Amino acid sequence: MEHVTVNPWAALAYLVAGVCFILALRGLSSPSTSQRGNRMGIIGMTIAVVTTLITHAPVLAVACPQPANGVALCEQFGALHLDTLALIEILGAIAIGAVIGVVTARKIAMTDMPQLVAAFHSLVGLAAVLVAAAAFLNPQAFGIADQVIPMIGQPFWAIYPQSRIEMGLGVAIGAITFSGSVIAFLKLNGNMGGAPIMLPGRHVINLGVLAGILGLIAYFTQDQSPWIFWTITALSFVIGFLLIIPIGGADMPVVVSMLNSYSGWAAAAMGFTLHNSAMIITGALVGSSGAILSYIMCKAMNRSFISVIAGGFGAAADTSGGGAAKEQRPWKRGSAEDAAFLMQQAEQVIIVPGYGMAVAQAQHVLREMADKLKEHGVRVKYAIHPVAGRMPGHMNVLLAEANVPYDEVFELEDINSEFAQTDVAFIIGANDVVNPAAKTDKGSPIYGMPVFDVEKAKTVLFIKRSMGGVGYAGVDNDVFYMDNTMMLLADAKKMVEEIVKSLD
Ligand code: NDP
Repeated sequence: MEHVTVNPWAALAYLVAGVCFILALRGLSSPSTSQRGNRMGIIGMTIAVVTTLITHAPVLAVACPQPANGVALCEQFGALHLDTLALIEILGAIAIGAVIGVVTARKIAMTDMPQLVAAFHSLVGLAAVLVAAAAFLNPQAFGIADQVIPMIGQPFWAIYPQSRIEMGLGVAIGAITFSGSVIAFLKLNGNMGGAPIMLPGRHVINLGVLAGILGLIAYFTQDQSPWIFWTITALSFVIGFLLIIPIGGADMPVVVSMLNSYSGWAAAAMGFTLHNSAMIITGALVGSSGAILSYIMCKAMNRSFISVIAGGFGAAADTSGGGAAKEQRPWKRGSAEDAAFLMQQAEQVIIVPGYGMAVAQAQHVLREMADKLKEHGVRVKYAIHPVAGRMPGHMNVLLAEANVPYDEVFELEDINSEFAQTDVAFIIGANDVVNPAAKTDKGSPIYGMPVFDVEKAKTVLFIKRSMGGVGYAGVDNDVFYMDNTMMLLADAKKMVEEIVKSLD
């Protein structure tokens, strides 16, 4: 069996990179340290990439064809040439990827982040599939096979059994990540309806396909026939698709973090195939932190973790969405002057931001409004729901960007009880996260998700653009029609600018 030697300096550099990634995750756990965390991530990735580039020669030496006389030509003089050529190709690929990455990152609107993240996850999944396929088709290049010269028939490369397991798992996780992320992208981007698609007998189908994949991976250790490898790949593409289509509406945040976790495990599996410890460490960190984030999101949404990863297991099949059919009920419309007057009189105002604030980019003027209210002696607090906006931490990022003091920002469980003693709940572009249907309507797709008790405040000021627009889950909201609600129908930024003028 081939022994893969590890350059001790590379191992040390990968360890340093791994420590940088851990510090990066630690930094990203709070908005105040997130920039430092990001920088640690960049440093770690630079160390890992440079180390891989410098130390990739041994892999290429293995890749040299072994001629019959036993003298590897490229070991004598060809390795340098191969190295330079490969390096040029790799640097070219990095340059193309970097240009695409920079242009996309500059152009993308903050509100389109979730679909971008889903698209990136799909690429990680696809990369894992391609690496596994390359390793399967050319195992000697990866140092994972011994040449067998049988008595009868052609010599062939027998892939080591443990490498077949790594390869089977790598291609399966990669393919699931790829097709799942493509569906998530289509749903988040609006190319596909957000409603869950429930196939009849989906749990039996899913369990059957999963069992088939695991059985084939086990069989693959005994027989490396191409049909087994390609069937594992095809079934995994199918199961990725089947697992994500039944998840819809308000549960999409969990899907995004779950696919994040899958992409990490796919990268870790690739690390085993490529004998690259940095990839194993990084993949495991992404995989486990994504799994923890998914668990936190599930808890925040009051969903069972198992039911979501099993593809909507136990999800209510009735997705008619309570209140989805709009009723013609009376509601009150207010102006910026009314809102300014009511808030000036208040002792405490709780601001509930949501996706619409991100669309309008109203965070800066919102902080200006809060500053003015504070000058008038009003206590101002911000209430952040874990799934407000379109990505985990979306609202925290926007408020931090507008320099809102962290001690004014509260999580759901820390502030929800305060609405009953609050004069004004100021809802700016939020909808699902303040919808009482989550508490009362068992048929609603958001039923069970904890929401802010805004209806308990003395007055609710509700900014959105029209009465027709619904939240992400597509559910009508009873708060619009309450006696103590005043609808402020306008773009969030314009409305808050007018309120600020009125406060002057
Ligand atoms: P919602 O999507 O429920 O509601 C957004 C509201 O903003 C709508 O009422 C919309 O009404 C209004 N709006 C949109 N644009 C503007 C604008 N320019 N000015 C004023 N109002 C505007 O947002 P929430 O934050 O309450 O809830 C987030 C939802 O997204 C949840 O269902 C969550 O599960 C889901 N989700 C969250 C993810 C995450 O990671 N956080 C990821 C994927 C999905 P109108 O059109 O009438 O203006």
